[in-house]
Amino acid sequence: MSHQVCLLSGDGIGPEITTVVQEVVKAAGVDIQWVPCQAGLSAFEKYGDPLPQETLDNIRQTKVALKGPLATASGKGFRSVNVALRKELQLYANYRPARTLKGVPAPFDDVDLIVVRENTEGLYSGLEHTVIPGVVESLRVITEVGSRRIAKFAFETARSLGRKKVTCIHKANILKLSDGLFLDTCNDVAKDYPDIQYDDCIVDAAAMKMVMNPHQFDVLVMENLFGDILSDLASGLVGGLGVTPSGNLGTDAAVFEAVHGTAPDIAGKGLANPTALLLSSTMMLKHMGETAAANQIESALFSVLEEGKTLTGDMKGSATTSQFCDAIIAKLGTS
Ligand code: NAD
Repeated sequence: MSHQVCLLSGDGIGPEITTVVQEVVKAAGVDIQWVPCQAGLSAFEKYGDPLPQETLDNIRQTKVALKGPLATASGKGFRSVNVALRKELQLYANYRPARTLKGVPAPFDDVDLIVVRENTEGLYSGLEHTVIPGVVESLRVITEVGSRRIAKFAFETARSLGRKKVTCIHKANILKLSDGLFLDTCNDVAKDYPDIQYDDCIVDAAAMKMVMNPHQFDVLVMENLFGDILSDLASGLVGGLGVTPSGNLGTDAAVFEAVHGTAPDIAGKGLANPTALLLSSTMMLKHMGETAAANQIESALFSVLEEGKTLTGDMKGSATTSQFCDAIIAKLGTS
């Protein structure tokens, strides 16, 4: 079966790692017609808009996109394309598994947890204003509708993957109204899933517990800012941002991306590690029903990582991005 997928190559190392994904997916025999779409710095320079309408229209049509990292200036310049994409396409659920990979140096063994982050509300609602010069206010928006749909997503994900427990992460002891609503809503949704254990944990304690003993967690669900921070913490438990995938899912579209940035220090040098984007692409293939090919790519990738002979510099190896890619392709169908 042929699929159409929007491809946002991204900035910095983006084009190098998206090329690897295209080659590996092709070698695995999946027929994808990639629809190139502009976003980020290149789109801003060309069209004066970092997220052109045409890109949004294309993603709405194909319903699936793969995205490389995009450069965003801090405190000035154009709006964050990542935040805008999530809001425009209502990609309300950010799904970030963090799993130990044999061969990838990490502080723990056998970590296997999933962070589910609400992607459209909280402090990322983009509602900021200057009250008087020198005083600014950012609104942290939590709604019952938004909390319910992310809680349902977390429980449905847990159920479909055979996971045992969902933990709601919050700060309802201090943010009594906003996080109180989030926690109450999660508690309510949990009643519909008696087959899945449920508990809750205050965010600061959760951060400490994840670092001390990550094995006590399974699926964690939380609002936007806490999810941004704890999902990176979860990545750190399994070897860092270079090896963790992510999916942004909504009712009408899904955008899969690596969670690391554009790595400007190594861009264009053939040193980038494509593992995170490759794992994001296997998540995408499973979403599209190409589970067998996704499993085949994962086996080949895991086997190259475990062998440890052809690794990129960030994984303490000396292989180039294309040598790493070739090693994975050579393993396809053999592992
Ligand atoms: P970064 O993730 O780009 O880089 C941090 C460090 O990790 C660098 O040393 C880099 O070389 C290394 N690194 C990252 N990904 C790697 C990979 N795949 N292989 C090997 N090494 C890798 O973070 P940053 O420097 O804070 O951000 C740079 C730019 O990326 C900024 O403009 C930022 O806004 C943007 N950014 C985008 C996204 C996204 O699009 N999802 C996420 C984070 C940062």
